[in-house]
Amino acid sequence: MNNYINNDTIAAISTPVGVGAIAVIRMSGAGSVKVLDCFFRHSANTVISHRTCVYGHIYDNGELIDDVMVAYYKSPESYTGEDMVEISCHGSVYIQQTILDLMVRNGARLALPGEFTFRAYRNGKLDLAQSEAVSELITSENKKSHDIAISQLKGRYSSRIKSLRDKLVELLSLLELELDFSEEDVEFAKRDEFMALLNTIESELKSLVYSFDLGNALRNGIPVTIIGKPNVGKSTLLNCLLEEDKAIVSDIPGTTRDTIEDVINISGYVFRFIDTAGLHKTDDIVENMGIERTMEKVRNAKIILHVVDATNADMDSIKREITEFQSYLHEDASTSSSKKWIVVVNKIDKAENMGNCRQCTNDICDKDAKSIVGDSAPDLIFISAKKCENTRAISDMLCDYVKSQDIDSRTIVTNVRHVEAMREALVAIRSACKGFEDGIPTDLIAIDVHHASYSLGSIIGEISNNELLDSIFGHFCIGK
Ligand code: GDP
Repeated sequence: MNNYINNDTIAAISTPVGVGAIAVIRMSGAGSVKVLDCFFRHSANTVISHRTCVYGHIYDNGELIDDVMVAYYKSPESYTGEDMVEISCHGSVYIQQTILDLMVRNGARLALPGEFTFRAYRNGKLDLAQSEAVSELITSENKKSHDIAISQLKGRYSSRIKSLRDKLVELLSLLELELDFSEEDVEFAKRDEFMALLNTIESELKSLVYSFDLGNALRNGIPVTIIGKPNVGKSTLLNCLLEEDKAIVSDIPGTTRDTIEDVINISGYVFRFIDTAGLHKTDDIVENMGIERTMEKVRNAKIILHVVDATNADMDSIKREITEFQSYLHEDASTSSSKKWIVVVNKIDKAENMGNCRQCTNDICDKDAKSIVGDSAPDLIFISAKKCENTRAISDMLCDYVKSQDIDSRTIVTNVRHVEAMREALVAIRSACKGFEDGIPTDLIAIDVHHASYSLGSIIGEISNNELLDSIFGHFCIGK
């Protein structure tokens, strides 16, 4: 971090390594224009002024290197808060390297990873959480992760943390005032008011910590576990969904068949499909290991697609299969949290005992489902995976589920560092609350409140240390 604290002029290529149509090379620091003047020539009719672009030529020892556009931003109205110059040149690696070299030969220094953003942070342009959002924005791969990063960058999330911290700081100052007057045994605020305030902060923090789980799922793919007996058509269904959406992002092969994952982007939402082995009671040790792995996937799932085979089945046999699965869920407490559970009755093209289900619409299926397993019914859908019939309805159900989560991008935490700091703050707040209840001395409670405010401050960078800054900015790419 020591290298970051200079005020010199820094330079870097900001576009990816390789040949593109154009490339951008940036400089930041008070000397930027002076350095530029050493090798940039433009018409006498144009002037380099704040937030304008000037067309001109780059020369190296009298030799023309390229035609370029130069944008200039005057301090403090730039990304870094310093004078900045951005040169858009043709994408040749040779041209990029020569311009960078000219900058360095004329007084600039090569920027370290993340140094531009670090300067933006140091100059108060971005707080720490916003700086991290820049990195998330650059790497966002789908609409939801982009929404989250943009919202964090715009500071909405930071302002919420800041207001919680401000409340803690105010509380702390009252406690410290009491300590100053400890001889006189005065109380500057009622204990129940303190408690009420801490409880409010605690519940806000809890909801942010809770959002982490959901935020991660949105960013990395909402886990959808497909279960069902062998040969019911799980793989066929998966292929059909992949085929329909033509948007396979990747295949992640695991060590065994039951950990294969397919990531599909459906209408901007990323789903991570996990195909598993079936669930049934058995004494076979090896089989039981497979079943335990399946249960693990069920525990981690947000959505369960339970595929059953309609061949030779009727409503009663399907009901039995669903009930059997339900008994597994209830035996394992950790799986019973709110999950979307969709029963997919497959192979309706071969079903002879299923009445009207061939033409089944979602509405009818819902009613059927209620009649099968009562009010805690899963959604029930009838399909033919082989013919890709009605499978679009599954995609729609998955997207509807995400929308129904009422997810507000402003309040989703995706950063592990942030959630750790929030958890620490929560522990300290609970300890302070207990301290008030048990009537322990004010100075000990003040330590907890201070700890909580410190943890929240570290998220937005009101409290920081070199090690932390190093680890955050060191992970940026050079030129950002
Ligand atoms: P998995 O073991 O659950 O993954 O089952 P598969 O997807 O491998 O399918 C097993 C067999 O059922 C294959 O021969 C599929 O062609 C067939 N199958 C899958 N879905 C359907 C369907 O909707 N209708 C019919 N008739 N056959 C299907």
